Amino acid sequence: MTSFPLKPSQDSLETACFVSEECKVSSTDNINKVAHLISEGKIGGVPTETVYGLAANALNEDAVRKIFQAKSRPFIDPLIVHVCDMQMAESVADFSDDARKLANAFWPGPLTMILPRKKCVPDIVTAGMDTVAVRMPSHKMMRELIKKANLPIAAPSANPFGYVSPTKAEHVIEQLGDKIDFVLDGGDCECGVESTIVMLTSTPKKLLRPGPIKASDIEDVLGEEIDRNPKKNEAHPQAPGMLKSHYSPKAKLTLFEDIAEIPADFSGEIVFLKRPDNPLKNHYWLSESGDAKDVQKNLFSLIRSLDKISKNGIYCQKPTSSDDSWLAVIDRLGRASAKS
Ligand code: AMP
Ligand code: MG
Repeated sequence: MTSFPLKPSQDSLETACFVSEECKVSSTDNINKVAHLISEGKIGGVPTETVYGLAANALNEDAVRKIFQAKSRPFIDPLIVHVCDMQMAESVADFSDDARKLANAFWPGPLTMILPRKKCVPDIVTAGMDTVAVRMPSHKMMRELIKKANLPIAAPSANPFGYVSPTKAEHVIEQLGDKIDFVLDGGDCECGVESTIVMLTSTPKKLLRPGPIKASDIEDVLGEEIDRNPKKNEAHPQAPGMLKSHYSPKAKLTLFEDIAEIPADFSGEIVFLKRPDNPLKNHYWLSESGDAKDVQKNLFSLIRSLDKISKNGIYCQKPTSSDDSWLAVIDRLGRASAKS
């Protein structure tokens, strides 16, 4: 079983979190079941290559409203619409030549584009704006699901608003299990952080959220520079990921560059980017050798686990590299450690 209906019992919780090759093979049934639930206006957790999403039929206003309620997400915060092919993409947004170039280069994959919206997209999805966020995910199960449902799927990250994003089915079950209709278990998310968001409707084009697709790769395809630090407008954020405090654990999270910055009497958890030479009992690491992709993949998952046991706060090492591949990790750590 890789999906389950309504309020899982403790037993089904364990089953739903177990992903074996066998589960993957038998998943077609679950995808069909979930596609049907989505077409009926139900909402639930779905795997993508970035983080788990909380999915609903993007064209059904009532279903989309349930997403906001389950997440306690403010309605000013627009959602990303997920599509499985260009025909579906063009049914929800207007594609410029530049948008087509980016789609050719990075889709399916972790790039979201902000484009002029088509009328069929309800106001609730775009927070009343005349633009819509569109992405074609690469996760096999998610693609099959959208294809089966034959509907664009609105899916923000499947966590309570402001908290760390989920990268495993069990994270969704733990936090939203009693508020949603299903969780489709597609294993651990490959990227571990949310998609890169690029706004194509402004001049210059803007990077609204750094993510797995590097800003420099987007610039190479467009043949122009994009604004990597667009001005923040907190009253009406163009992306919640732009809020100063977001992706936050309950435990106090403090960043450090040098271990000497940590008080000698600190007894909480210390997270390193790579395995320390002589790790102590309260030492954790985000990768074996300091690879940016590994750190990105494990970041939310480790912080979430430590948040459960932490009594005295968490110190986490901050990357000092200016290389583009660290932008998303630096961004998420900055927001997760910021006070609201
Ligand atoms: P999440 O749902 O948590 O993955 O975040 C989705 C992101 O897409 C949020 O940061 C939204 O603000 C952003 N977004 C969605 N639609 C738009 C839009 N029309 N203009 C700007 N940002 C958008
Ligand atoms: Mg989110």
